[in-house]
Amino acid sequence: MRGFFNAHCHLELGFLRGVIPPGLPFADWLREVVRHKRTARREDSAAAVAAGLFELRESGTQALLDIDSLGTAPGPLRAVQMPAISFTEMIALDPAGAGSALAYARKRQEFEGPLAPGQAFGLSPHAPYTTTPDLIRAAVAAAHETGQFLCIHAAETPEETELLVHGTGPLHAFLHDMKALPDNWQPPGMRPIAILHACGALGPRTLLAHANDIDDGEVNLLAETGTRVVVCPGTHVYFQRGPFPLERLVEAGVSVYLGTDSLASNESLSMAREVELATGLAPGLSPAVIVGLADARRARDFGLEV
Ligand SMILES: [Zn+2]
Repeated sequence: MRGFFNAHCHLELGFLRGVIPPGLPFADWLREVVRHKRTARREDSAAAVAAGLFELRESGTQALLDIDSLGTAPGPLRAVQMPAISFTEMIALDPAGAGSALAYARKRQEFEGPLAPGQAFGLSPHAPYTTTPDLIRAAVAAAHETGQFLCIHAAETPEETELLVHGTGPLHAFLHDMKALPDNWQPPGMRPIAILHACGALGPRTLLAHANDIDDGEVNLLAETGTRVVVCPGTHVYFQRGPFPLERLVEAGVSVYLGTDSLASNESLSMAREVELATGLAPGLSPAVIVGLADARRARDFGLEV
């Protein structure tokens, strides 16, 4: 059997396996993740990364796209030499912080030094609701300059859309309580995909994670621009979310991939399980099509050799 390509993971959060019970609303789950990340010991996260890489290997994953915010993933990743991109995450909701967030991400990559042969860094402005248009534009320019790919969480929940369009809802309360919003913060008044489009962030060198809350026009825009999308069946099931976008995306011709997401919102890093869950969530697609989405050879779309 050929191996799998896991196109979305946060190995650094593996220490949260089984810690946050399923069923919490997304904003409440985020509060728990932030609380645990703040008190996490670096060695626990690094050990979870190493254990996660072992689990990926054992369950047939041959190539990986991973998000790194704590700096604990590049070392263990380098040691296993799996073809991979480590996306350095950036979060900054204050427009004044855009430049420093990008500069810090690039410094982290520089400090880390080169990864193993066949591995590369990428940039991840976390999401339209945790960054600013300035930071997204700057990340697009930096990625263009360095040849790195971008990964951005986008349109994950209706709450994200509500926050960005109206400035209200549970994610606004979350960011307010975190004191993450500047005093004069105003919502952009646009849906997540429109914000990314306006920032020049859509295109074949960008991977969007989730894209659950998207309308037909947005699906077509992703197809027209060649923007790539990774969906995460295990996380979808964990949050008991509504319609899964996989069928619509595939039918519109969008390049779609499957990922496990993190063990904070999934019980396993097995891609075979993701394929099985996706088959249940997208009954209109043949199992052969869904298995194909997770094929290791699809990592070549991101310049990875498998
Ligand atoms: Zn994610």
